[in-house]
Amino acid sequence: YGDGNQKIDYVFKVVLIGDSAVGKSQILSRFARNEFSLDSKATIGVEFQTRTLVIQHKSVKAQIWDTAGQERYRAVTSAYYRGAVGAMLVYDITRRQSFDHIPRWLEELRSHADKNIVIILVGNKTDLENQRAVPTEDAKEFAQKEGLFFLETSALDSTNVESAFLTVLTEIFNIVN
Ligand code: GDP
Ligand code: MG
Repeated sequence: YGDGNQKIDYVFKVVLIGDSAVGKSQILSRFARNEFSLDSKATIGVEFQTRTLVIQHKSVKAQIWDTAGQERYRAVTSAYYRGAVGAMLVYDITRRQSFDHIPRWLEELRSHADKNIVIILVGNKTDLENQRAVPTEDAKEFAQKEGLFFLETSALDSTNVESAFLTVLTEIFNIVN
């Protein structure tokens, strides 16, 4: 049972990974509290946030984990990935390097996480279209090749944040049902 004695049918752990400053914490903040901050500090302390939503008449508690400044390669511990059934692999569409690092993150994810984990590739900061450095097509092609879901988001103006989480959560839901 969750807050207010609401019956919880499922708890799904989803992890956020990707380079520092791509917007992971703001994506989570937008999803969990509908808040956004332009001068967000590097993540400290809080390990995860939750939001309960209804999928096909069942209540699903999404427990979303955020890296606490462990974004250096191989610094994320295996405890972080433990029990995760979904992952959001985030890059910044205005920073090519953050996209070029995605294969490493994917490799790390695949070596630590359950092999059936549901993964979505997320290109964040679409509100900065005039500074775009990663063509949508490049990311789409990579996602297709690797069998990942793919969406571009903006934590700032909310574009696709809800859809990105729903894509992962609904797919997990369908797998367990
Ligand atoms: P993290 O290190 O991946 O957790 O990144 P943060 O969530 O802390 O975000 C890093 C910086 O990018 C902060 O200044 C955020 O305000 C900013 N940011 C995050 N998402 C967006 C977005 O969608 N659009 C814009 N313009 N800035 C964003
Ligand atoms: Mg952060």
